This record gives sequence, structure tokens and C-alpha cells, in this order.
Amino acid sequence: MNKDVLKDLTYGMYVISTKYNGKDVGCFVNTVSQITAQDVVISVSVNKENFTNKAIKESKIFAVSILSCDSTPDVIGKFGFFSSEQMDKFSEFKTIEEQGIKVIDEKICGYLICELIQVVDIDTHDVFIAKVKNMVKMEDKGPMTYDYYHTVIKGKAPKKAPTYIEEIVDNSIKYKCEICGYIHDESKEKIKFEDLPDDWKCPICGVGKETFTKI
Ligand code: FE
Repeated sequence: MNKDVLKDLTYGMYVISTKYNGKDVGCFVNTVSQITAQDVVISVSVNKENFTNKAIKESKIFAVSILSCDSTPDVIGKFGFFSSEQMDKFSEFKTIEEQGIKVIDEKICGYLICELIQVVDIDTHDVFIAKVKNMVKMEDKGPMTYDYYHTVIKGKAPKKAPTYIEEIVDNSIKYKCEICGYIHDESKEKIKFEDLPDDWKCPICGVGKETFTKI
């Protein structure tokens, strides 16, 4: 069985958001799919350990922001690698408020407002089936695909992502971000990690050099 074939399945890049006990919560997902056309229904798979999973089951309403290809990695970093339980992920980003929910409005193609109609329990994840109540089209730069995120931005899949695959690394000198898993590969970047300026930040999640360890 070759798990590499799973990398050929295509995905987009989305932030889903909702409200839980008056708090704005959200996370990054790549598994939004349209299921029906006339009365539009979508599905999205969310890890049960994500705080946003619990929040959506409670609120039964959520927004999907569709990231465009010029979307900045810090949105992906903040929503993909930190928990809403411990911080306000929305404070540093532009948002739109709709039906009491904060929708991330940082270089997005548009957004959907969705009402939860069914939850399908699949072991580690829940698949949320939801009716789309509103759709708003914004930027026209084209959506960011998961493949673009991996090959151009060099981003990694969060451990809780349905598409996470454990990677085996080779022996060249590399430093790994302990938060998001981004790897600074000295042979590819053509600069030694120690020569990077002191204020250099992880291009994905924005933490400093001190959060990197040599692997
Ligand atoms: Fe990072």
C-alpha cells in the first residue's frame, strides 16, 4: 500500500469559524466539499480534538472562508496550529460579522454561511453535513489549493488534519518549527539557520527562531 497516492487527491484551503459561549472560535480545514447543487449542501471533516468541532456541534452554524492563492501564511499558521481554547485567533485579522459569527476576511475568494443538519461520526473525525444559507463572492484571484500550499508555500499538514501523513526526513541539516512543523532546510534555502536574522519568523506560524529545533 503506497500512501503517497493520497497526495494526488485535491483539496482547498479554508478557515471555518463559529461562536461558542460568546467566544469566537475557528480552525483551518482542507476538506470542504459541495455535495448537492440545487439546495446547496456541503460536507467538512473536522478532528474531534479540535475545539471548533465541539463549538459547531453546539452552535449548529458556521462560516467557511475560502482562502485565495495570495492569502498570507499567518492565517493558515494561526488557525491551523493553535487552539481557540487558549487564544483569540481573530484579533489580528480582518473579519466580517454575519449572523453573529466572525468570518475571516483576509484575501479570501468568498465565504459561505452554513447550518449544520447532520453529523457523521468517523472514528477520530466528525463529518459535518450543512446546508448553505448564504454565499458571498469576493476576490477573483483563484482559490489556494492544498498542493500549492505544500509545493509553493512549503507548508505542512497539522497533525489533526484528516490528510496528515508522518514524514521521514533525510540527513541534511534541517531545523523544525515545534509549533507548525515547517522545516528550514539549509541545503534548499541556501542560508544557514544560525545566519538568519534574530527577528526572523517562521513563514507559516510566525514564531521566532527559539521555537525551532535541529533535526
Ligand atoms: Fe511554524
